[in-house]
Amino acid sequence: MKPKLIKTSKEMSEIRNRISSKIAFVPTMGSLHQGHLSLVDTAIEKAEVVIVSIYVNPTQFSIDEDLTEYPRDLDKDIKLLKEHQVDYVFFPDDEQMYPQGFKTWVDVEDITQILCGKTRPTHFRGVTTIVSKLLNIINPDLIFLGEKDFQQLAVIKQMVSDLNFQTEVIGCPIVREFDGLALSSRNKYLTAEGRKRALCLYKSLLLAQNLFRGGMVNSNKIISQMSNLIVNAACVIDYIEVFDPFSFEHLPELSPGCRIALAVIVDNTRLIDNIEIR
Ligand code: AMP
Repeated sequence: MKPKLIKTSKEMSEIRNRISSKIAFVPTMGSLHQGHLSLVDTAIEKAEVVIVSIYVNPTQFSIDEDLTEYPRDLDKDIKLLKEHQVDYVFFPDDEQMYPQGFKTWVDVEDITQILCGKTRPTHFRGVTTIVSKLLNIINPDLIFLGEKDFQQLAVIKQMVSDLNFQTEVIGCPIVREFDGLALSSRNKYLTAEGRKRALCLYKSLLLAQNLFRGGMVNSNKIISQMSNLIVNAACVIDYIEVFDPFSFEHLPELSPGCRIALAVIVDNTRLIDNIEIR
């Protein structure tokens, strides 16, 4: 009966090695929402076999972050994945992923030190290490990742290319709530009142888009207006950056195709979002 549940790397690899058809893989940290499920649905369209992993990876959290509070609901996740006709759910534990004596890390340089990497300096090393392990265990033809984590998508593309993984990386669009808030497992931390103020992320990105359409191109001026909107919502800015979506270089002026990303703290919850300027 679908999905088949797999706990160990050994069993996952053995099953994988018996599959000759096209495999799509969706890595997640669980607490699944429509954003995750949109990746799953796209994966189902593009491959014969779909594998979803659920693992809250401790090495991508720093000691002062929310590893212990991070929402977990495996039963609900499995129910959703069953409804979406997923073939396999791989949910290893820490002992499987980081057995005693673990010493090897995968580290992408440069693009991991900017934007989210400034405030979370060890975050991407944790992400690239766990994704490398999952790619080695599953060896999928395709991996689906969300543009919600735009920097993470770029970092994994870089790693897959640099380390010759035989997997194609496919980025999928951001799924939003009815009012524009990007879906995130961390939205669960928000109070009803905080949830309203959290709309400032998307509103500020739309403001940038509208200012650009109105003829303003100067990044600093646009960032300044975005900042005002966010501060007026009583939220704290971690960063707002205008950059080239391929090189990640800062752009002093907006142009079509450039990206704006931001991280904002709403009460105690750090949220991220981004937009492509058109
Ligand atoms: P996470 O469980 O937060 O590690 O996310 C697992 C995958 O789902 C990542 O590739 C995320 O980018 C993607 N994802 C999370 N939220 C969204 C969203 N709102 N829209 C699209 N993809 C998302």
